[in-house]
Parts: sequence; structure tokens; C-alpha cells
Amino acid sequence: MTTTEQAAPTANNFLRTIIDEDLKSGKHSGIVTRFPPEPNGYLHIGHAKSICINFGLARDFGGRCHLRFDDTNPAKEEQEYIDSIKDSVRWLGFDWGEHLYYASDYFEQLYKWAQYLIEQGKAYVEDLSGEEIRAHRGTLTEPGIESPFRNRSVGENLMLFQEMRSGKFPDGSRVLRAKIDMASPNMSLRDPVLYRILHAPHPHVGDAWKIYPMYDFAHGQSDAIEGITHSICTLEFESHRPLYEWFLDNLPVPARPRQYEFARLNLTYTVMSKRKLQELVKLGIVSGWDDPRMPTLVGIKRRGYTPAAVRAFCEQIGVGRSDSWIDVSVLEECVRADLNDAAPRAMAVLRPIKLVLDNYPAGQVEELQAANHPQKPEMGSRTVRFGREIWIDAEDFMEVPSKGFFRLTVGGEVKLRFGYIVKCTGVVRDEQGTILELHGEYDPASRDGIHTADGRKVKGVIHWVSAAHAVTAEMRLFDRLFSDPNPDRGGADYKQFLNPASVEMLTSCKLEASLAGADVETRYQFERQGYFRQDPKDSQSDKLVFNRIVTLRDTWTAKK
Ligand code: ATP
Ligand code: MG
Repeated sequence: MTTTEQAAPTANNFLRTIIDEDLKSGKHSGIVTRFPPEPNGYLHIGHAKSICINFGLARDFGGRCHLRFDDTNPAKEEQEYIDSIKDSVRWLGFDWGEHLYYASDYFEQLYKWAQYLIEQGKAYVEDLSGEEIRAHRGTLTEPGIESPFRNRSVGENLMLFQEMRSGKFPDGSRVLRAKIDMASPNMSLRDPVLYRILHAPHPHVGDAWKIYPMYDFAHGQSDAIEGITHSICTLEFESHRPLYEWFLDNLPVPARPRQYEFARLNLTYTVMSKRKLQELVKLGIVSGWDDPRMPTLVGIKRRGYTPAAVRAFCEQIGVGRSDSWIDVSVLEECVRADLNDAAPRAMAVLRPIKLVLDNYPAGQVEELQAANHPQKPEMGSRTVRFGREIWIDAEDFMEVPSKGFFRLTVGGEVKLRFGYIVKCTGVVRDEQGTILELHGEYDPASRDGIHTADGRKVKGVIHWVSAAHAVTAEMRLFDRLFSDPNPDRGGADYKQFLNPASVEMLTSCKLEASLAGADVETRYQFERQGYFRQDPKDSQSDKLVFNRIVTLRDTWTAKK
């Protein structure tokens, strides 16, 4: 189920081999690819794979990659999606330069090519309803039935098509079809629909059109107009390739792109269908398209994943032709690898309990030095202050230790990260028995955290924050949105697999004082807790909100 091979970047992408050969043989002198989204939703991690393939090949072979909106369905398209798609491609680190295109800018040319097909006797206006067309289509084992309107004269077809354009007919009353072969074993060639009537304004070209080309009639021709050499799409388009080629063979197009298909990305514990993502938003199961648990690029970005980590992931999973599943832990591991290197360390106590060090002078404050990265002295250090009262994490204290628990216990000792060795001498509780605070003592000889007056050894190390200097923050601990590896499996309702613990909100976390003025973009490793970044939407200088980007270790695989 998991793809973890770390093949050399060039070895696991069959498209590189094809392009290499096309350049060597002189078939092409340079390559042109495109990323062609329909602006009908937000991009997700699956699209990132396609973006990295198309822009990555152009980069590696000195070619160029276009961003083209395949905007043939105004009923579902919106400017909001266009803007967000552009932002997401840029966020991933790719640049289309001058090469931003819209299939809708080619509508006039596509219309002329449709007229051309009519003139050649290769297209006709169909009066049958959509339902009748489907009923006449036949099956994989039975041929379709030819329409009674299939043999209209060229003149009548041209006139009707012109009238369709001018808005004379209501939506759905007629379509233009290609006249190919109703008996073809490939269903896409059974007189596919080329144009439909739709009285709807278009987000890019306004209300200039009353008819719109179908995706299949627009896509390949748009590739040809732009001089795309390698038109790369997902495997579900494989059966459309003969139709793609039929249009290129039967129209006076300026170039002949070639379509190649690759396996789409499927990720465990994730749904990627636009319809389902939309439903999660609509039902309020998530807070929006950019909810940090969503697999959308806006969600991943808000959560704090880095573009470099997403690119590394796309490189690592490679490009093949057989459908496969990638475990989401592979993506999470790429995020950890990127952040481990770059993220400064800091201390944050998520579930604070107070420890009062009774032998430490009241009012005294000491400054201790803390390294910003354990392996990178060049990242420097910062000052953390220490005093009589500190916060420690509730999980680091057990009144009666279980076997193997080396953190704080009553009567036991623990090292404070970057500081003294302390011991717990007692617990103060309220009437219900809830712990109010702990009392303890510090060992003045152990300031460096290593030495003790009598040379005794202390095993555990915990993080802490000075109570007098701490900053209070909210932390959102995100986890996987689904608790089943394949929530999208056919038949079952994917919503039954939602993970009830996909987010935990902690509102009174205590951070070291250096985080008070933290930059929103900086990703931190909170020692022993995970990687965190401020939520770019909700965090404010006087009310910090941090998102957990990813835990330090993969707890899911360990559980299984
Ligand atoms: P729709 O059902 O609306 O067509 P889509 O996810 O295919 O949804 P597009 O906007 O058409 O959306 O996608 C743009 C490009 O991204 C296409 O070339 C498509 O093949 C590719 N793509 C979409 N999903 C994935 C995926 N899971 N893995 C890899 N590529 C994908
Ligand atoms: Mg699509």
C-alpha cells in the first residue's frame, strides 16, 4: 500500500524517458506542457501532483508550462476559484510567466472548427433529448443506434448551429454532435456531443455565448492552439485519447500535441473528490475549504505545510501508469523532514500545571541560554527566564509512577530542559481532588542540567516555561480527518469514517516569552510536542493561536 522507495529523481517518472527520447530524436526541439484546471473548486493534494509533473518537466527540460483554465462549464465555475487556483500554483513555487490562458478565449476559434466539421459532413445538430441520446448510445457489448437527425444537410446544420449560438433555442433543446461511429467499441467515439446550449454568464467571457463547447471538444484543440507538445492527464482520460486524436486528425489545427496518461494520486485517510470536499464544507463538518484538516492546498497551506515538503512528496511518489495508494504518512514524513531541518525550537506547555519551587528565592529571575536547534549551532540561541514558579505539562507528572515513567513523580527528580534538576515534594488539591499545583525543590548545583552536588544521575528531561513570563496561547491539535484508511470506498457513506478526534482545542497553553512577537510565517518545533505555526487567519498579537502542523513521530503506524 505504501510507496516508500526513494528512487533517484529521474528514475521514477516514465514521462521523462518519453520526453528525453522525443528531444533526442528531434521530434520536438523543446517541450511545452500545461496544467489545465477547471475553475470549479479548490485545488487539492492530487492536483499538486499534476502541477509538479507539468511544471517540473518544463523546468527540468528547459521548456515551459502553461496555466490554462479549461473553463467550458460556466454553471459550475467562479472567479473565486480562478483566483485561488492561481494562488495555489504560485504557493507551490511555480510560475507560468506570460503563459496564462483560458479555453474560453478560444471559443470563437472552436466555433469555427465546429462549423468546419459540419461543412465536412462530420458534425450535425441533434434534436433528441439528452435522455434519448443516452438511451441510443448502446452498451459495451451492443452498438448504439444512429439518430434520425444524423443525416441533416450541411446547410440545415449550419443554420441551426448559428441559431443555437444566437440564443434562439432554450437550454437542452439541441446539441451539436460529431458524426463518427455509433458502432465503435470505444463509447467516446459514438457521436460525442460537441456543443450544448446554456444561457448562463461565464466568469471570464461574460454573456457573449449561449452555447458552450464540451470539455473534450475544447481540451485537445486548446493544446494544439498553444503548441503543447506533451498533454499530460490522469488515466481516466485514456479512453478519450482516440477522440482527442480524431479532432486533431479532422481539423486544420496548427500543431499535433500528444496525450499521455499517468495514475492519479490516491491518499489514505483522505477524500479527494471535489463533490465530497464541497459537502464537508457545506455541512459545516469542517470550517471551510481552508480548514487545516482539508487536503486542499489552501488547507494544507493554512495548517503550515511547506511548499517544499509538498514538492518533495510529489517527487518521492513518482509518476507511474498503474493505480496505487500512497499512505498519508509518506506526506507527513516529508513535512517532518523539511521542518526538522529548518524549524527553530521553542518550549510550550500544552496542558499546564504549576510547579512551585519552595527553595528558590521569591522574586529572583535567572536567564538561561537555550539552543535554537540541537544540531545547528549557527541558528544561535535565545534567553529563557527561570523563576520560583514554572509551568510543566500535566502529562509529565505522575503521582505514582508506572513502570518506565522517568518524568516527574512525588519524591522523584527530573531535569528541566536547559536548566536545573528539580524534585517534587508534594501535591496541592482542591476539594474534588483535582491537582491545583505541585510543590518541589531545585538543586542549585545543577544549573547546567548535568551536574549534581553528589554526582547522582537523573534520567528524564522535561520542557517547562517560567510562570511569571509565560505567554498564553490557544493550540489547535489537528489529526487526520478520517479514521479509516479508505473512507472513499464505494457503497459506504464516507462520513461514517470521520475521526471524532480530528481536532483538539487547547485554550490555556503556556509559551516561553520569546514567542510573544513570533512571526506568523515561522514554523517552530515545540520541544517534545510537534511542529507548530500560528494560524494565519485567527492568530493575533494579543491572542496567539497555533496550529499543530504535524506530530514529531508517526503515531498512526505505531498504533497499527
Ligand atoms: P473534475 O471531476 O471536476 O474534472 P478534477 O479533479 O479532475 O475534477 P480538474 O480541474 O479537471 O479537476 O483537474 C486539473 C488537472 O489535475 C487534471 O489534469 C487532472 O487530471 C489532474 N488531477 C486531478 N485530480 C488528480 C489526482 N488525484 N492526482 C493527480 N492528478 C489529478
Ligand atoms: Mg477534470
